[in-house]
Amino acid sequence: MAIRTHYKEADIRRLLEAGMNNTQIARQLRITRETAAQVREELGYPLAPRSVPPTPQDKFTAATVEVDGGHMVWTGERTQDCSPVLSHSGTKLSVRPIAYEIQHGRKPAGRVKAACVYAWCVAPEHQADAVDRDRTRTQPRQLDAAAALLGAN
Ligand SMILES: [Zn+2]
Repeated sequence: MAIRTHYKEADIRRLLEAGMNNTQIARQLRITRETAAQVREELGYPLAPRSVPPTPQDKFTAATVEVDGGHMVWTGERTQDCSPVLSHSGTKLSVRPIAYEIQHGRKPAGRVKAACVYAWCVAPEHQADAVDRDRTRTQPRQLDAAAALLGAN
């Protein structure tokens, strides 16, 4: 018994090999999704895994542009007061805590602000939370104390 195949079988096979799903194949070859699904089955290809939805981190990367000095400009959505936000699962997430988590691997404590010279910068490595800011504020005092000790000797 001959296996019935589609006249675009070679093209479909090529796209299946490339890991495309039925919708993508249908669009590319101007065939129906049903045909793509049918040929996939006939050729013995497994169902394409459902595409993984983008994480907030993926969305962050997609909406930032790196500029000179490693600073990053946010090109995505903003709130009315210009804070960068991104939509995720139907809610608006503040972008800076996401940037912070990318860099530090943990959620920030308190407000996250750019620690570099640009208030608009969203570069993950340039974000500081309340704890980081406290630390940089106390450091000069500790240095003063050390200097005073050295001076006393
Ligand atoms: Zn910066």
